[in-house]
Amino acid sequence: MRIVLVGPPGAGKGTQAALLAKNLGIPHISTGDLFRANISQGTELGRRAQEYMRAGDLVPDEITIGMAKDRMEQPDAASGWLLDGFPRNLAQAEALDELLRDAGQALDSVLDLEVPEDEVVKRIAGRRMCRNDSAHIFHVEYTPPKEPGVCDTCGGELYQRDDDREETVRRRLEVYHSETEPIIDYYKSQGLVTTISALGPVADVTQRALTALKG
Ligand code: ADP
Repeated sequence: MRIVLVGPPGAGKGTQAALLAKNLGIPHISTGDLFRANISQGTELGRRAQEYMRAGDLVPDEITIGMAKDRMEQPDAASGWLLDGFPRNLAQAEALDELLRDAGQALDSVLDLEVPEDEVVKRIAGRRMCRNDSAHIFHVEYTPPKEPGVCDTCGGELYQRDDDREETVRRRLEVYHSETEPIIDYYKSQGLVTTISALGPVADVTQRALTALKG
């Protein structure tokens, strides 16, 4: 299966993508995670991406598209993937179409996670990530770890992402509306979009998503 996950920052894409990918047996490809890995490894790509991410802006397409393409060409991605955070604008959506066309492949579905804006802000402000694994995500209020600052799953250190600060979140939301939302219409015109509510317990959202994808 080839699936694109879209939704505003804080919709729970990372949480859901990890669960869905596991359930469907396909790799979870997150451009945000790829950038963060490059930053923590101190690569040239990471160095170039960091300033844009800190500001809440999109990393330029010439960096992002090549990185996403490289990842999608890895052997584990041959029979499908769940893309999280890519494409994020029309140019990236067109680049993905070209890539798929060249490979004689097609998208199966675009899953749109819907969440009201005031909820998004609350989710991001309380979000804490594990340094060891970006799939280990907590919220200080909604899904608190047993011990503050420590990951329940692996004991790793929990931290707040640099771009989860309030000023940056506002900018990320603006960018989402102006750059990313247009790709939903683009995919709607191809009949690929299913919208589900991302409110409620994590497991309920996953079930809703699986029903939508398998139905
Ligand atoms: P979220 O979905 O919560 O906003 P991500 O982890 O997906 O967070 O992305 C964090 C940041 O990484 C974005 O704000 C942006 O700066 C950068 N980024 C991720 N994916 C892309 C992309 N496809 N194109 C450009 N920039 C991206």
